[in-house]
Amino acid sequence: MLPGDGHERRLSTPHRPADYTTRREVPELTTPCQNEGDAIMSLQSKIEWTETTWNPVRGCVKVSPGCKHCYAETFAERFRGVLGHPYADGFDPRLVPDKLLEPLRWSAARTVFVNSMSDLFQEQVPDRYIEAVTTVMLGANWHTYQILTKRAERLTTLLTTTLRAAAAARHIWWGVSVEDKKHGMPRIDHLRQAPASVRFLSIEPLLEDLGALNLTGIHWVIVGGESGPGARPMQASWVNAIKAQCDAQGTRFFFKQWGGVRKTTTGRVLDGRTYDEMPPRRSIPVPTRGVREQMLHDLAAVAQGWSVTPLLQVRAQIMPVPSCFGTMTDGTGLL
Ligand code: SF4
Repeated sequence: MLPGDGHERRLSTPHRPADYTTRREVPELTTPCQNEGDAIMSLQSKIEWTETTWNPVRGCVKVSPGCKHCYAETFAERFRGVLGHPYADGFDPRLVPDKLLEPLRWSAARTVFVNSMSDLFQEQVPDRYIEAVTTVMLGANWHTYQILTKRAERLTTLLTTTLRAAAAARHIWWGVSVEDKKHGMPRIDHLRQAPASVRFLSIEPLLEDLGALNLTGIHWVIVGGESGPGARPMQASWVNAIKAQCDAQGTRFFFKQWGGVRKTTTGRVLDGRTYDEMPPRRSIPVPTRGVREQMLHDLAAVAQGWSVTPLLQVRAQIMPVPSCFGTMTDGTGLL
């Protein structure tokens, strides 16, 4: 059964146009969007720095200039009104509890971009739902998870309180988006304050020279230019300045793309080579199918604890997390 068939939980605040919501006149399927569409049939992502995507939340509300040409919105709005499609509600924010347990079903370890089509920490997502997502990540710890947000303040607040176990887990990487100085620098400072084992920046779309960067406590930096119709240009000097600071401060550097209207023609070569550095990923054996089925059974309440009110507002009615998962840590002793 495909998601989008009535099992989703729409968030209380639907998507509303804001200053950053100029939509492309000619929607195109950029690489990440194709990935999400492909994910219906395939787990393989085309995003350069991950392997697959997992979207227990869909849709979002724009918050800053980096959102102007949001690929997720471009993709989702193409399918608004298409009955039975996962994005039949377009980019309206909504929970997808049917997807919550998905990582437990994957039989191979993967690097997973969490919420490639949304922002887990957007205001409408209840704390308890975010806790449910992290409960699954702590349980299925043979995967590596990458969480990226523009809501850095909330990220830090939760990682220092209810999500401390997830913050300490080395297989969960926490990142913030940075597109310019005004919006990006405060996010970096918030992230640095979070007690996360692995912190990263996605500097994409890079919209201006960021100047001096304090990369203390930042383990990984991704840089990329905007792609698709109307793409805002990125200058090589901006990229080189970031790379030089990563080199000087010992931060791993990943160059994703130059971008532009046709990203396939501009590629991702910088100074004659590609840069694909990443934090180390742990290798943890995938539990047997029987063990994973038991975990699915134990965590069923996490996904079933959400219901829809007549107003389609989310109510956090999540069941208590089974004790075996509540005590789980980043250690290798899964069971
Ligand atoms: S925060 Fe991310 S997912 Fe949400 S609108 Fe902005 S770019 Fe899109």
